[in-house]
Amino acid sequence: MSSEIVVIGSLAYDTISTPSGKKDRTLGGSANYFSVASSLFTKVNAVGVVGEDYGDNDINVLKNRGVDVSGVQIVPGKTFHWEGKYEGDLNEAVTLATELNVFADFKPQLSKEYSKSEFVFLANIDPEIQLEVLEQVDKPKFIACDTMNFWIETKKSDVLKVLSKVDAILINETEAMMLTKAPNAVSAAKEISKLGPKIIVIKRGEYGFMLFQEGNFFILPAFPLETIVDPTGAGDTFAGGFMGYLSKMNHPFKEEDVRSACMYGTVLASFTVEDFSLGRIKNLPLDQVETRLKEYKKVVTVPKA
Ligand code: AMP
Repeated sequence: MSSEIVVIGSLAYDTISTPSGKKDRTLGGSANYFSVASSLFTKVNAVGVVGEDYGDNDINVLKNRGVDVSGVQIVPGKTFHWEGKYEGDLNEAVTLATELNVFADFKPQLSKEYSKSEFVFLANIDPEIQLEVLEQVDKPKFIACDTMNFWIETKKSDVLKVLSKVDAILINETEAMMLTKAPNAVSAAKEISKLGPKIIVIKRGEYGFMLFQEGNFFILPAFPLETIVDPTGAGDTFAGGFMGYLSKMNHPFKEEDVRSACMYGTVLASFTVEDFSLGRIKNLPLDQVETRLKEYKKVVTVPKA
């Protein structure tokens, strides 16, 4: 069981408009992006639900990465559907529709094997479902979560319960400010640290991320790209790289390990945004990630004289 990750999150069909075009009912979902990214590092066990409309090719995206999908239930009804658009600001998705469909009545059931996973990621999904998963896991080493405006607006008290039980949170800048009512990301990170998590990662689109841990900040930009085709899934991919990398480190993590994990997350997310859906990352090999990481380090480091 060492270093295995269990992830609960959405497996979805997304309808997305960006300045590069529109895609109808393309594969998406927080658990899909997360699993494809984290499976570059370790064994991943995915938990979620899909409807009978979910294609074999789509479940094969995870299977091809060696992700265990025995925790993905297939039930009568339609798969979760999200519709969003990005206009001037590619850092901010505007949600046009959220159809929970089969997620509305979903009760996660972790197998005995899954419940022993040492790493748990509660990807963006109903916080009540996140809490049900936490009740079923057996003293994991490290728990991290994500959430979004939809859940902060509709189920804030459950989001706060989740926060009180996790080691880390990865959250968008605007959602961090919405959650805490703080006027900026620095103060939002400090406020979130009072709610439970010791590691707070605030995601800022093309501006990268802000990590806050043990009273210290670590802030870097995203990998510089000229064209962003579709930002959807960047956050979940970041989380997958972050958790995947940490799953290989000795626990308790050193501060520098968490910083490196953020750099892997950033670099992985830079691939996701180069295409719609999981197009760019579903077959991405780790050596391409390592090559881009070297380029990224050149961008963010002053060379020795
Ligand atoms: P992000 O990494 O934040 O861009 O996540 C995008 C993914 O989140 C999309 O593929 C959507 O299917 C999924 N998503 C959008 N809204 C929700 C929601 N309310 N609950 C769970 N997943 C969602």
